[in-house]
Amino acid sequence: MANQDNFESPDYFLMDELLTNEHLLIRKTIRDFVKKEISPIIEEACQSCIFPKDLIPKLGSLGCFGPFIPTEYGGSELDQISYGLIMQELERGDSGIRSTASVQSSLVMFPIYNYGNESQKNKYLPKLATGELMGCFGLTEPNHGSNPGGMESKFIDKGDYFLLNGSKLWISNSPFADVAIV
Ligand SMILES: Cc1cc2nc3c(=O)[nH]c(=O)nc-3n(C[C@H](O)[C@H](O)[C@H](O)COP(=O)(O)OP(=O)(O)OC[C@H]3O[C@@H](n4cnc5c(N)ncnc54)[C@H](O)[C@@H]3O)c2cc1C
Repeated sequence: MANQDNFESPDYFLMDELLTNEHLLIRKTIRDFVKKEISPIIEEACQSCIFPKDLIPKLGSLGCFGPFIPTEYGGSELDQISYGLIMQELERGDSGIRSTASVQSSLVMFPIYNYGNESQKNKYLPKLATGELMGCFGLTEPNHGSNPGGMESKFIDKGDYFLLNGSKLWISNSPFADVAIV
């Protein structure tokens, strides 16, 4: 039977007064989505080891992927507080779903936006924003964990292509990712 989500958010310290009406609207939208689409199904999905992929386009259409990315690249150009509120609400529903959205946003879209060239930004960002493409970020390795100083993976410039070699583990989104930032 689907779980019912009766979460209420008492504001004992009047934190909401620090938020704008837009922030409150964004938070309410994601909170309603979590109550309707995530809470009822997530426990069974977890127990059955199934990632609910049908949530991906819904997360994209709600602006959960790269909300701070400029609109010209498919983002919503929201501030970082809005991004934090979106992730906070998703995290309440399920940490794994939040990881999917925050890895896509902060570890895949942000590096492409900040360090990518114009053609990479145009090619990847709009599709990552909708969830048509999913991304992962591979830092952690078996022998050195998430210490970049010990990283053994390397690439070799082969002239007309790069050869990337190494092993990674615990990489969120990697089982279904189309794009990997390594
Ligand atoms: C659900 C999940 C999703 C993940 N997704 C990703 C992902 O998408 N991409 C990715 O690259 N990685 C991912 N990881 C890996 C994650 O980033 C690392 O596991 C995490 O950063 C911890 O690093 P570590 O395993 O190297 O542990 P360590 O850094 O080795 O830590 C192990 C223990 O040693 C302690 N410790 C570490 N250094 C010191 C020190 N100098 N002095 C004293 N104590 C110390 C720590 O506090 C900790 O208790 C994921 C992990 C999980 C569990």
